[in-house]
Amino acid sequence: MELCVTEERWQAIITNDASYDDQFFYAVKTTKIFCRPSCKSKPPKWDNVRIFQQANEAIREGFRPCKRCKPTGQRLPDREWVAQITDYIDAHYSEKLTLAHLADMCHGSPYHLQRTFKRIKDMTPVEYMQQKRINKAKQLLVHSGKTIAAISAEVGMPNTPYFITLFKKTTGTTPSEYRQLHKHQ
Ligand SMILES: [Zn+2]
Repeated sequence: MELCVTEERWQAIITNDASYDDQFFYAVKTTKIFCRPSCKSKPPKWDNVRIFQQANEAIREGFRPCKRCKPTGQRLPDREWVAQITDYIDAHYSEKLTLAHLADMCHGSPYHLQRTFKRIKDMTPVEYMQQKRINKAKQLLVHSGKTIAAISAEVGMPNTPYFITLFKKTTGTTPSEYRQLHKHQ
């Protein structure tokens, strides 16, 4: 079935929102190519877009599947998507990261990201990031002579009192106590 180009669908296309990938495909009249909403290819013009519910309907109308988002292939499995996000967090945890920023990087809505991540990892993206930061802080406490404030900043938490509170909540000891306990073993 061909669908209308509603404002909601249009927004999904121009923001590459992966949460719409199982809902429709969009075809571009000028290029004769069709894509998933999440496709990162250059956004089309509104007037040139047609929307189909099924990939085979677009094919029947003479459109070819995009080589980039492969709309006739398997959808990027959620596990792979979440793995891309954890890789991103692993590489960037020392920077300021928010859920909105992560969602933006990974081409999904914050709501979809939160829900999918939690289902697969059994924790939220923010919890995963905090765990990563605390683990790195533990290493630095034991294997470096850096101050607590320096370590806190290095793991992406420049607010030291907040870092200490979170560290204690997660490990049961303050950063100083943790260092005392593990340094001379
Ligand atoms: Zn595409």
